[in-house]
Amino acid sequence: MASPTIVSKLPDVGTTIFTVMSSLAAELGAVNLGQGFPDFPMSEELVSLVDGAMRDGYNQYAHMNGWGPLREVLAEKIASLYHTTINPDTQITITPGGTYAIYTALTTILRPGDEVIVFEPAYDSYIPNVVTNGAIPVRIDLRFPDYRVDWDEVRRKVTPRTRLIMLNTPHNPTGAILRPEDIEQLKSIVKDTGIFIHCDEVYEHLVYDGLPHTSILRYPELMERSFVSFSFGKVYHCTGWKLGYSVSSPELMREFRKVHQFNCFSCHTPSQVGLAKFLTNKETYLSLSAFLQKKRDFFAGLMAATKFTPLPSFGSYFQLYKYDRISDEPDRDFSIRITREYGVATIPVSAFYIDGKDDRVVRFCFAKKEETLEKAAERLIKIN
Ligand code: PMP
Ligand code: GLN
Repeated sequence: MASPTIVSKLPDVGTTIFTVMSSLAAELGAVNLGQGFPDFPMSEELVSLVDGAMRDGYNQYAHMNGWGPLREVLAEKIASLYHTTINPDTQITITPGGTYAIYTALTTILRPGDEVIVFEPAYDSYIPNVVTNGAIPVRIDLRFPDYRVDWDEVRRKVTPRTRLIMLNTPHNPTGAILRPEDIEQLKSIVKDTGIFIHCDEVYEHLVYDGLPHTSILRYPELMERSFVSFSFGKVYHCTGWKLGYSVSSPELMREFRKVHQFNCFSCHTPSQVGLAKFLTNKETYLSLSAFLQKKRDFFAGLMAATKFTPLPSFGSYFQLYKYDRISDEPDRDFSIRITREYGVATIPVSAFYIDGKDDRVVRFCFAKKEETLEKAAERLIKIN
């Protein structure tokens, strides 16, 4: 009897490096500074609000676009932070996480054969999302070691088939951020073209040293062609809740919702009810930058006693380190070896390049308790 043969849509994709390194860390009992998630507790108040919502009976489907009061409070937040008016009814959709928001935006826009400009190192879901939609990733390396965009190269790679440019600020894994001058370059490239923009801003509040977050939402003239993706998991230290949102123009959002309604349809109701109340206190997000910057600086202080050399990080949960004073091993081998021999897990940055480009740098997540960072540093100091 004939049996079906699956033809993989993603033949070259294995298990994501985050799972690989977290599993290795768990197996070996290593300190896990690899996968990006906090190990400190989330807000008790937010937990009580969600618990209260369940007890108050908010346990049935929410509206497919998301719980109304949550979208309203998000529109208020966007108005106060980014000085723009976003209509909560037509321009915001709550999603099960930032990853889903990104995937849905791409599925909404892309047709087979479209070209998509992706900067590498790239968050690991971007290129597979492009490929699953039958589109073609056009890869451009961010400039090592500051990881800024080379806009002249972007101009050279734009063709009549270019459909989308994918951005991420603050950037995972490098901690680089887009500056207003980058946006001016972007504007001049997309002007009078059919090019869409996706900007991943899941680390919007994690920008340091007093620098502003250059959100695409600040630029109404770009919003007619943009989707911007966010994650509550990253903002409120609850990555396991998998809740986020997408913001776009009314026209683009209408199409996004057509894809969304037949995929997840609506998201976990009590979390949305709890978040709607929690977000009315602006301090819950305004305090994040100082809180995480303190961790970044604390970790940097500890790491100064090791042979790792930091690259600058202006945002996100992450700090890259070169290890050229320790070894010239490929980064994947090095990460696995220090997890096994010294008990600290990191992420090799080559995993963020399709061709495995290896600048011999590893990524550390500093969104951890001070004691976790101290324990890691005590072990890393022993490497020479
Ligand atoms: N984009 C980037 C750059 C991320 O680092 C993450 C975090 N894992 C996401 C998107 C996904 O967020 P979520 O966990 O809400 O899906
Ligand atoms: N964003 C997280 C990171 O970069 C991990 C999310 C995931 O495991 N997919 O580490």
